Amino acid sequence: MRLLLLGGTSEARELAARLVPDGVDVTSSLAGRVARPRLPVGTVRIGGFGGVEGLRAALADYDAVVDATHPFALGMTANAAAACPLESVPLLRLERPGWDPDPAWLYVDTHEDAAVLAATLGERPFLTVGRQELARFVPALGKHRVLARVVDPPELSLPERWELVTSRGPYTLAGELTLMRRHGSDVVVTKDSGGTYTWPKMRAAAELGIPVVVVRRPPGPAGVPTVHDVDDAVAWVRERT
Ligand code: NAP
Repeated sequence: MRLLLLGGTSEARELAARLVPDGVDVTSSLAGRVARPRLPVGTVRIGGFGGVEGLRAALADYDAVVDATHPFALGMTANAAAACPLESVPLLRLERPGWDPDPAWLYVDTHEDAAVLAATLGERPFLTVGRQELARFVPALGKHRVLARVVDPPELSLPERWELVTSRGPYTLAGELTLMRRHGSDVVVTKDSGGTYTWPKMRAAAELGIPVVVVRRPPGPAGVPTVHDVDDAVAWVRERT
């Protein structure tokens, strides 16, 4: 069984760690966005495939695909959903569940809406939306004292009053409280990423009594069988070996 595992998430690394010892020939694929990615066990390839056509060509080397990319990695998920049926390669979507909604959180559909709402809620927003989304916050929050946390620095030059911190989860509640108190954060903005790595900021916001703006997830790929935990993904692969 030659499995292409579209990754860049902790679930993808966990799935590789479960399948490789079983003798599954796993190739994990990373986009190459971060400078020093955490590498899964097994074979790793890095970089885009070149759209749907590039992925279709690459599928000749695989018997099945698990798309375990981040819930907000829309492009890769759409490409896999388009390419796999055309090449008759079975595809499974492994998508971690979103966080259970909290009545204190405010949900929005887009990052632009999150920026506009955050601008009305505080003076010192804490943005944890990822480097690629930061530009979408500049129009509404360019004059706010933003704390933006990213893994690698963005290419765009940030507004003068913004502070950038680079770090990578998993985070702790104590660390998040210290950071948010030091900055004086009065609103947190996040995607509904789910999972445990970035959860402590949500608890810290609750402890500090500050609002959280949550960008809703995009819908999952239509017609693609989907599971929400690694055990179910392991079972799907085993059925095919
Ligand atoms: P995206 O918008 O879905 O992807 C844009 C393009 O990047 C894709 O069309 C593909 O290029 C390439 N790509 C993305 N993921 C890839 C993968 N695993 N292997 C090979 N190529 C990949 O993705 P994104 O939001 O930029 O995320 C990039 C990666 O970071 C994903 O693997 C994702 O799991 C991870 N990640 C994303 C987020 C997030 O918030 N978006 C958070 C944490 C981790 P081609 O069309 O050339 O094939």
